[in-house]
Amino acid sequence: MNIKNNLILALDVMNESDAIEICDSIKEYIDTIKIGYPLALAEGLEIINKLKNKFGFKVICDFKVADIDATNSKICDETFKAGADAIICHGFVGEDSVQACLNMANKHGKELFLLTEMSHPGAKMFLQKNADAIAQMGVDMGITNYVAPATRLDRLSEIRNIVGNESYIISPGVGKQGGDGKKTLEYSNAIIVGRSIYESEKPKTACKNLIESLK
Ligand code: C5P
Repeated sequence: MNIKNNLILALDVMNESDAIEICDSIKEYIDTIKIGYPLALAEGLEIINKLKNKFGFKVICDFKVADIDATNSKICDETFKAGADAIICHGFVGEDSVQACLNMANKHGKELFLLTEMSHPGAKMFLQKNADAIAQMGVDMGITNYVAPATRLDRLSEIRNIVGNESYIISPGVGKQGGDGKKTLEYSNAIIVGRSIYESEKPKTACKNLIESLK
């Protein structure tokens, strides 16, 4: 995936009008947005195509898909049918569940991102212990897109080692969760930033300043 300014907006606002207002203000700097459960549950999957059609964005759906294989297939199918360019799935559910997501992404000609480890403090309790194995599973399955945390650069660097330089890593956790954008991009291909843009008084200026800080 080619992502303008190596910056993805996590659009976790709760209604369409806020989403449109934010997107309109940052469209000069951003061409890829991440939509998760907050906005999708509030406005329905139609929000994906509404924002794509209005702004020409690429949309990554952060649905952290984590079910049995048959259910994962259905979740991914609906999400791609609704216009998503990529979907994020969890890896801890194991190979069969992830393979179902990969098969559906391939069927639609879309992309799958495998989440190895989350960026929040709670990720240390269970997920971090298995993150290297999850990343290795992804490599063994031929997956080339990953999500890994900006909040723990040692872990991000380890995951980069495992998935190799040819893989594409996107990293949440810059800004509100404490991660540093420039340092993150030493290991990662793009950063995912939410609240420090959309909660800002001036999202456009926040975006511009953030991009400057990455240079
Ligand atoms: O507001 P903030 O910049 O912290 O947003 C980060 C986004 O990335 C949120 O949408 C959050 O759900 C998501 N995310 C994360 N850690 C992960 C995967 C996704 O913070 N490992």
